[in-house]
Amino acid sequence: MRPSALVIGAGIGGITTAIHLAKHGVHVTVLEKNSKPGGRCDRFSSEGHHFDTGPTLLVMPLLYETEFESLGCSWRELLDLIPVDPTYHLIFDDGSKLALTSDQDEMRRQLDGIEPGSFENYRRYFHEGEEHYRLAIKNLVYRDFRKASDFINFENLRLVYQLKPFQHHYSRMASYFKEPRLKAAFTFQDVYMGLSPFKAPATFSMMSYTELAHGVYYPRGGMYQVVNGLMELAKQAGVEFEFRAPVKQIDLNSHIVRGVSLEDGRRLQADTVIANADLPYVYDSLLPQDHLSDRLTHKRFSCSVISFFWGVDKRYEQLAAHNLFLADDYRQNFDSIVNDLDLPQNPSLYVHAPARLDPSMAPPGDDTLTAIVPVGHMAEDDPRDWGGMRDQARREVFRRLKSIGITDLEQHIKFEVNYTPPSWKVRYNLMKGSTHGLCHNLTQLGYFRPSNRHPKYHNLYFVGASTHPGTGVPTAMISARLTSQRILENLS
Ligand SMILES: Cc1cc2nc3c(=O)[nH]c(=O)nc-3n(C[C@H](O)[C@H](O)[C@H](O)COP(=O)(O)OP(=O)(O)OC[C@H]3O[C@@H](n4cnc5c(N)ncnc54)[C@H](O)[C@@H]3O)c2cc1C
Repeated sequence: MRPSALVIGAGIGGITTAIHLAKHGVHVTVLEKNSKPGGRCDRFSSEGHHFDTGPTLLVMPLLYETEFESLGCSWRELLDLIPVDPTYHLIFDDGSKLALTSDQDEMRRQLDGIEPGSFENYRRYFHEGEEHYRLAIKNLVYRDFRKASDFINFENLRLVYQLKPFQHHYSRMASYFKEPRLKAAFTFQDVYMGLSPFKAPATFSMMSYTELAHGVYYPRGGMYQVVNGLMELAKQAGVEFEFRAPVKQIDLNSHIVRGVSLEDGRRLQADTVIANADLPYVYDSLLPQDHLSDRLTHKRFSCSVISFFWGVDKRYEQLAAHNLFLADDYRQNFDSIVNDLDLPQNPSLYVHAPARLDPSMAPPGDDTLTAIVPVGHMAEDDPRDWGGMRDQARREVFRRLKSIGITDLEQHIKFEVNYTPPSWKVRYNLMKGSTHGLCHNLTQLGYFRPSNRHPKYHNLYFVGASTHPGTGVPTAMISARLTSQRILENLS
């Protein structure tokens, strides 16, 4: 008889795991609480405006290429990819700007204009990022750490010297730049890992390296096309999906998982259960409370964000596709988010105008705008006034837009949708409303990140952002490949 598997959640990791397993003869059913697939890689449309509500940047393209290849398809055939160069337009508090581009002459002109001689130091930093990327992808990201000795061994000792995990990323920047704006320009990407550059390992220079070396892309039609592409592959492989099917609990019998119980009262059985719903939530809400779930609540979680989605009846050509307003009080910003779980006084923030890349994302003459303001995640029994914080964040976005000449946005907004940390929590069952799940500090990486197999229930597996290797769309696909390999080994 064909082995069977139930996947809880149709996020990127869940769909990809389902495809791998189905292609190897497993009968797979994916149960998703929401009405459509994608999880955090979500979208909505209104009045001809199309919004990606989660990821907006297709970064680390080489990882996508490898992962789609492992599913037997070419991602370049599946997606219509638009290269984004410059990647980001950075706007500083003093009004100065920096467009991060692969055009080296243009980078020299801009960097030397901000700090004379800094272009050569940027080249050195770029090479360090290249080395970090090469070593980290091969030795950390693509590896499955099943036992401590897979991670802590003589061979990996060299990595401690090569990847500089014990040096903080921001302090490492002093070896390259004096100018705080440049230190910020090449460290802000750490927030994707849920980390402050003042705490993140210097290893993460690999993020700014890959953006400039391998490029940033935009799939025509938006990031949700990645989900559509995966769904096409899942249907070809024979995966079955049930939407609006929230799982209430994982059913256990001694050390074995029997299946799941749904909110609607049904009980489904399978040989294997894979939880793609975020791992801390699964331990907390779908499994019995024990020391493992207690330990997880004390782990460090990434920040959250307040997001605004605006359909606008005017086009704002001053905005590029990806605009980042970086605050001068850079350290205070991260301290406020990470330590105080608050909204900074003068927050750094991101504004996305997808119609600059793909005009079909907004009706002719109109604009589709997304603003994202990072904020601390929710605390236990959170008593905060999220509505008030949302309104303050909105005022900050308008204030920063005025600095680039956009003074009338408020009058041109046709409609607004916004998400605060409680929205993220409810929508995707993200504990503490943490948008990237468990953060990626040293004690939560590699073997120290919660395993993709439950230590007690051996036919229960995990896939996605809060297990190995971590957050991000291509990383969820890697997580799926590693988890599927482990499942298939145990089924055979
Ligand atoms: C605002 C934001 C911006 C981001 N930007 C980027 C970016 O630019 N580039 C990038 O690469 N990544 C980005 N990310 C990260 C990326 O979106 C995630 O890391 C990735 O999509 C997570 O996938 P996952 O496999 O962990 O599944 P998830 O997205 O967590 O999906 C899990 C699924 O499980 C479902 N579920 C939960 N509980 C249950 C239950 N009880 N029963 C049934 N179903 C359940 C959920 O509804 C969800 O659909 C961003 C994320 C956010 C939130």
